Amino acid sequence: MNTYFKDEYTFLSEFKERLEKRYIVELANASTRQKYNVLGEMVSEVIADNWMDTKNVLSNNNLKEVYYFSMEFLMGRLITNNIMNLGLRNVIEKGLEIEGLDLNEIEHFESDAGLGNGGLGRLAACFLDSIASLGYPGYGNGIRYRYGLFEQKIQGGYQIEKPDDWLKDGYVWEVRKDEESITVPFGGKVIFEEGNAVYYPDELINAVPYDVPIVGNDNGVITHLRLWNAEPTEKRPSDKDAFAYDSEIRKISGFLYPDDTTREGKVLRLKQQYFFSAAGVKSIIERHLEKYEDFALLPEKVVIQINDTHPSIVVAELMRLLVDDHGLEWDEAWDITTRTCAYTNHTILAEALEKWSVDIFQPVLPRIYQIVEEINRRFCKELLDKGYDQEKVTKLAIISNGRVHMAHLAIVGSFSVNGVAALHTNILKNIEMKDFSNLYPNKFNNKTNGITHRRWLLHSNPELSSIMDMVSDNWVNDPNELEKLLKKATTKKYRTLVKKMKKTKKVALAERIEKEQGIKLDPNSIFDIQVKRLHEYKRQLMNALHIMYVYNKLKSDSNFKENYYPHSFIFGAKAASGYHFAKKVIKLINTIAEKVNNDPETSDLLKVVFVENYNVTYAEAIMPACDLSEQISTASKEASGTGNMKFMMNGALTIGTLDGANVEIAELVGEENILLFGLNADEVNQVNIDKTYNPKAIYDNHVDLHLVIDQLTNGFFEDVAKEEFREISDRLLFSDNYLVLEDFEGYRLAHARANDLYKDEEAWFKATIINIAKSGYFSSDRTIKQYATEIWNIKPIK
Ligand SMILES: *Cc1c(COP(=O)(O)O)cnc(C)c1O
Repeated sequence: MNTYFKDEYTFLSEFKERLEKRYIVELANASTRQKYNVLGEMVSEVIADNWMDTKNVLSNNNLKEVYYFSMEFLMGRLITNNIMNLGLRNVIEKGLEIEGLDLNEIEHFESDAGLGNGGLGRLAACFLDSIASLGYPGYGNGIRYRYGLFEQKIQGGYQIEKPDDWLKDGYVWEVRKDEESITVPFGGKVIFEEGNAVYYPDELINAVPYDVPIVGNDNGVITHLRLWNAEPTEKRPSDKDAFAYDSEIRKISGFLYPDDTTREGKVLRLKQQYFFSAAGVKSIIERHLEKYEDFALLPEKVVIQINDTHPSIVVAELMRLLVDDHGLEWDEAWDITTRTCAYTNHTILAEALEKWSVDIFQPVLPRIYQIVEEINRRFCKELLDKGYDQEKVTKLAIISNGRVHMAHLAIVGSFSVNGVAALHTNILKNIEMKDFSNLYPNKFNNKTNGITHRRWLLHSNPELSSIMDMVSDNWVNDPNELEKLLKKATTKKYRTLVKKMKKTKKVALAERIEKEQGIKLDPNSIFDIQVKRLHEYKRQLMNALHIMYVYNKLKSDSNFKENYYPHSFIFGAKAASGYHFAKKVIKLINTIAEKVNNDPETSDLLKVVFVENYNVTYAEAIMPACDLSEQISTASKEASGTGNMKFMMNGALTIGTLDGANVEIAELVGEENILLFGLNADEVNQVNIDKTYNPKAIYDNHVDLHLVIDQLTNGFFEDVAKEEFREISDRLLFSDNYLVLEDFEGYRLAHARANDLYKDEEAWFKATIINIAKSGYFSSDRTIKQYATEIWNIKPIK
């Protein structure tokens, strides 16, 4: 252990001395930025020691390593995580306390590394934490976006997007490694010389790695996330001047596409995908060759996990390097490649399954395109040899109808294809990818997602952590130990403790919301929360319609009002910048909030707030403060969800459909401890096949819902134009693919059950405790152990 952290006095004197040396300032006059930077540097030095040690251990043994390739890593803040995982929190806190300083305030200076859109990127971040904390030799590979996902402001009820300039103050954790830069080729042509393909690219782009340490919890292990930065080289197209070219190249690592379902800026996006995939693969291969000399051992020493289709081009790039640059025969290279790559599927939404038009793909990546063609030719031949008819072959082909199907490339080129929750994997195997699953029955497997209980319980909810400490002294290392809380579900003592914890977290969230947005929430009301990306399939709109229904009832039905427990409905969501309808839903939620919050007749019973700029750091305050977790996607559309798991682990009950991992939550807690409603996945599928969804009929027959839909366009919202929400009512009545009106009645009844259950305090907190106790299954430590043993075949360092 670094001696500065020996005790609080040593720490404090070093801290002061560094402030003076570096910033010529005394502690009393130092700004938060100065204090943050000095603290970050001190912590980084401890990391450096452990990092070297881990590297040395790894270079002295021959363990197999996993590389997690992902276009997104939604890391959030690292300082809290790093300080806690290194075991430094106590000393630092005490040292600062001597001077009346608060560590929290210093931590808040760090901007979130928001290099992801939502669940998929956050999953990657949780996985890195579990990999390091379990001591596995594993690394992330991604892009160092200059700008992360946009910062959201709400103005006049509308979403405004501001650039997320997260690097403006520098980033204390990253280490630039010029020496390990890789050049990535683009464009140009391929010429066959003496039977060999020789690739003459138009441009070479310099990929410079920045390594961000990933600190294992209390085990001395440090792995890293390697983020690639794009920079120009001398080799550029002859018609471009150096200055313009420089800024063009930097765009490749310029910004994250604020959209995880539709594709824009196509060429640039494809370049991004190839850029970090190619740089990652080449750096792996160079490292491998230094150590093992030839490629025969590659699949025994390296596994590349392809997170969604964005990096599936890895398959073709690995083939290119092995065949073109290292002279392997095709068959041998293919055998090595398909034993090294594994693929995770994240969605069955058709619009999100990536397909690249050949017109774009071929000119940007001419040699890669030839290789994909050859993979496809051999694959189609194999199918024909097996007796598949031409129609089937076209359906499964990697290239068909002028498009490259990235999911097909990933499936054909990998030894493992996994879904992210039991239901999702079943849908993949039995419906969406049935033909592939029949062809490769052993490739398909399930790995239900998880979340790191360190960030989402230990760090973000110390109050609940101390309750856990009373029943287990090992739950941090073994989250299954959370189950020890189960036998306390029937004790008054623990119900009271959990209730008190909830209240504390609700008060804290209410204070933050009041401070930032001026809306006062009653911490004794039910905190009913839906936070996640805004998308039609997630059905924030159904939640909003239900709030309108409640409001109408409170105004018109005294029995209803009598029986209604006060609720605060909290939303948080970013809408993709080009997703017009999603943005309308944000406007609707804010319009409802404006109306109901200012009605004195209801405002003691009903409050609505849309929190600005939902991100990881905000989530850390929101999850622990929730009573009712809204997980209400149309069944079969949410692959897993991970927000549902964070809420559960912090003692919220779920109101939800049997979708994604909700199915597994329900199995674990039992149907009496979750509020289920709506069609299940089979029923949704059947409705779609039979085309029996008739929203107009539901509208005609449901008096209360009829009124709500009319209110969207009849001037009920005085402060907006009458036509403002016309497209929402049109969508609901004529073109809604997500069955909002179909599930509304079930949803309404589930809310009524929740309302009654909450009034029975004993029953509610018993259910709460059961949810917490059963949530250990959703630790990403469990998920990562399954990946490690069932896919990766890797062993921990010690
Ligand atoms: C967990 C998380 C998500 C994913 O939420 P879902 O409800 O699973 O869609 C998205 N964004 C942030 C900031 C998160 O922390």
